[in-house]
Amino acid sequence: MRAVLFDAGNTLVFLDYSRMAAAVSAALGIPLTAEDLAAGSAEASRAMETARGADRERAAAYLETLFRVAGVPAERMEAVRACLTRLHLERHLWSSVAGDTRETLARLKAAGLRLGVVSNSDGRVEAALEAAGLLQYFDVVLDSALVGVEKPDPAIFRAALEALGVRPDEALHVGDLYEVDVVGARAAGIEAVLLCSAAESPDHRCRTIRSLALLADDLLSGDRAAS
Ligand SMILES: [Mg+2]
Repeated sequence: MRAVLFDAGNTLVFLDYSRMAAAVSAALGIPLTAEDLAAGSAEASRAMETARGADRERAAAYLETLFRVAGVPAERMEAVRACLTRLHLERHLWSSVAGDTRETLARLKAAGLRLGVVSNSDGRVEAALEAAGLLQYFDVVLDSALVGVEKPDPAIFRAALEALGVRPDEALHVGDLYEVDVVGARAAGIEAVLLCSAAESPDHRCRTIRSLALLADDLLSGDRAAS
């Protein structure tokens, strides 16, 4: 193993639920908390995986599901979208980082692995990673809006391998969406691991891992036992 590729959203960076809840509450006059939004995350991931269309539509389905589960009525969704668009222009919506992510990336880097990001995004993923203090760990960052192809198209994974100078069998991809991350990486001949929180019960037929720190433990110990 010479390289690890990472998805960005819900793998490296997460939605800032507190900021979103505060802004939408103020704009719509509907009381919302970070916990209200977090409660819909598993359903939102499923909506994102099954939504038709390009990443833009999938991302919209994800956000709409979060607010629907939190109790926002359908007729207020246009106002929610307008508020989120304004917030995202001010600062990237995906700006939260799990506590041990920087340390985990530093460990992988120190072990000599090359690290890359393969993200379906809007041209701003590099800026989001920089703002989150993560950009320094990556040798390459591929943003679908800039590459011109989206996961699960294997072309974006091949572009990452080429940029890193590694073969498919020398790389591993980790992401949170089976249909996007696992299906896409496998189509490029790359082994994939699905990141699943303890609350989720994956029914997908692939290797799963609970956290990036556990994945790093596994990779750096040489123990490749699948869960
Ligand atoms: Mg993701």
